[in-house]
Amino acid sequence: MAQLYFYYSAMNAGKSTSLLQSSYNYNERGMRTLVFTAEIDTRFEKGKVKSRIGLSADALLFSQQTDIGELIRNENNQAKVHCVLIDECHFLTKVQIEQLCKVTDYDDIPVLCYGLRTDFRGELFSGSQYLLAWADKLVELKTICHCGRKANRTLRLDSEGVVICDGEQVDIGGNEKYVSVCRKHYMDAVCEVKKSSNM
Ligand SMILES: [Zn+2]
Repeated sequence: MAQLYFYYSAMNAGKSTSLLQSSYNYNERGMRTLVFTAEIDTRFEKGKVKSRIGLSADALLFSQQTDIGELIRNENNQAKVHCVLIDECHFLTKVQIEQLCKVTDYDDIPVLCYGLRTDFRGELFSGSQYLLAWADKLVELKTICHCGRKANRTLRLDSEGVVICDGEQVDIGGNEKYVSVCRKHYMDAVCEVKKSSNM
């Protein structure tokens, strides 16, 4: 039986690298994979998953309107798909996670989703919320804070390096930067901002 996996982490834990390695392992054995990434992610050229250590692969794009289940089924009808790998899966909607559950259960194709657990405010993304609820396997990919503890929060910084506490959940393509930190250093940074804005 195929399973639905959610590989989650804060920013810069090597999610794309891990995805590309898994896809490579399938391909090496002559098996076909489908790789997806979010249309919203404009960091790299469209239609590619790229890792920070230099690996890359072509990818299909999904937006929040994409019927991802139908797309996978069509591809599978043309040539057997052995595994589906989705980068930036936190951008998926509840409906799309339901579609992926069906691909896993009815089409018996393993689906591996890679994404962030929470946004810079510490709130769940829609995709992450339903993957945490419904995935068969939850796997945390770890990265570390500057203090050496596990980083499970993401700070959003403006172009001057000042911490931003409010704003839209998605702001890819802005001049913001994201830094992964532990919960304590996230709290410290956010409290510092709140203190100085009260003065
Ligand atoms: Zn820390």
